[in-house]
Amino acid sequence: MRFQLIVAHAALAAAVLFITRNPASVLHKRDAVTPAIFACPATSWPPNTIGAANLPQEPSEDLASMLVQVDPAKIEATILKLVTFQTRHTLSTQNSTTRGIGAARNWIHAEFQKYADASDGRLTVETVGYVQQPDGSRITFPTLISDVVATLRGTDENRLYVVSGHYDSRNTDIMDYEGDAPGADDDASGVAISLELARIMSQPDYPLPKASIAFVTVAGEEQGLYGAEFLAQTYANATPRVNVEGMFTNDIVGSPKADDGTVDPYVIRLFGQGLPPITVENSATRETRLTIGGENDTPARNLARFVKEVGENAATQMNVSVIYRLDRYLRGGDHRPFLEAGYPAARFTEPNEDFAHQHQDVRVEDGMQYGDLPEFCDYEFIARVGRVNGAALWSLANSPGMPTNVQVNTTALSNKSTFYWDPPLAGEEGVEAYEVVWRTTAAPFWTDVIDVGLVNEATVDLSKDNVVFGIRARSADRMRGVAVLPFP
Ligand SMILES: [Zn+2]
Repeated sequence: MRFQLIVAHAALAAAVLFITRNPASVLHKRDAVTPAIFACPATSWPPNTIGAANLPQEPSEDLASMLVQVDPAKIEATILKLVTFQTRHTLSTQNSTTRGIGAARNWIHAEFQKYADASDGRLTVETVGYVQQPDGSRITFPTLISDVVATLRGTDENRLYVVSGHYDSRNTDIMDYEGDAPGADDDASGVAISLELARIMSQPDYPLPKASIAFVTVAGEEQGLYGAEFLAQTYANATPRVNVEGMFTNDIVGSPKADDGTVDPYVIRLFGQGLPPITVENSATRETRLTIGGENDTPARNLARFVKEVGENAATQMNVSVIYRLDRYLRGGDHRPFLEAGYPAARFTEPNEDFAHQHQDVRVEDGMQYGDLPEFCDYEFIARVGRVNGAALWSLANSPGMPTNVQVNTTALSNKSTFYWDPPLAGEEGVEAYEVVWRTTAAPFWTDVIDVGLVNEATVDLSKDNVVFGIRARSADRMRGVAVLPFP
């Protein structure tokens, strides 16, 4: 798949060069050194005369070993077990041991606890929650909303990455909490990824990550994103505020097949929002962002770019299709409350959806099977999506984190560009060097990088008027962090 894409891109590049007869040799150079997945031949000016091509980051030895362990059979077992609770509607019973959302929650907690017990104290499990009062909409009586959170404590004091799936389910009528709603794809598939990554990453054979990782399953998604909102607010309102530097929700990641039969088994979509909610970024900052052309370089977008750099490789066998959008039309997800709490967050969703197999009562109509049944899941595909998540989380958690107060000097007109920044919140101890990355303004991903060393100021011989810059930190074991857009 990757090979085909690269060939297609090369052919396109050749065609563009031929048609435009552009004599600038730099166009050729950029195509030759920049991986096709990061570049676009139509966006190749100005010339990249300094630095090097920004190459994908290959998995570390530990990470590669973890990704091999992601097991489609374990994912299948989790999804089949979750389906046995018949419904996991948020308003369904919490008093049964075999049916309803309460039984599902207790089972998930017990599974995480098994991994915690085997982790030599590295993984801890908590079920947290609150009673949601009737909201005049999708909650009609006081309802306990519970999130099951398994946290792998890193060595840094205060930096966290979150991976989440929702364990509540629904059928055609969002208020029908008594009918069966198997919810295999939506979203037992996402729950299975949180569980599988917790099982693997907490094993005592592996070193502790620098940052902490929370493997999460939440309730109340279908009734109004309640579980995720509770968790995001819990982190945001803690003293000190928990520094969540990245959150992913896996929601509907169970199958690569569309209702017309289209299948893309080696592609996962990642939805990354542009402008942050107005409650997060004040109007003055937003005005500056629009003035400098920074609307495509929000924290969520640069988190998504990072996932592409670390998530596409032989270990995952996947292509990450980054979609510059909060979510699909008419849909919502658990990344949103995290964005609203000011945290970078993005959503993984299967490449093609089959709407007969989500949000539908289980039934046969005109000879067609409706319902979110496990028989429509592809466990190998879910395992690959799990590997992309694993690659992103482990790479993030072992990176130095994001530099802070990243600024560009705009005090005088200059064809050079000067930047200043402060160390990541976790400190400079884990930083070996900083890197300035850039791309032309119309390019989707970082194409170029220059190592500027362990400094907090750098000048590069390239005009800020023509490209987008980012500053990122790199660790001694060559783990890069997420790039940050400099503001004036
Ligand atoms: Zn869902």
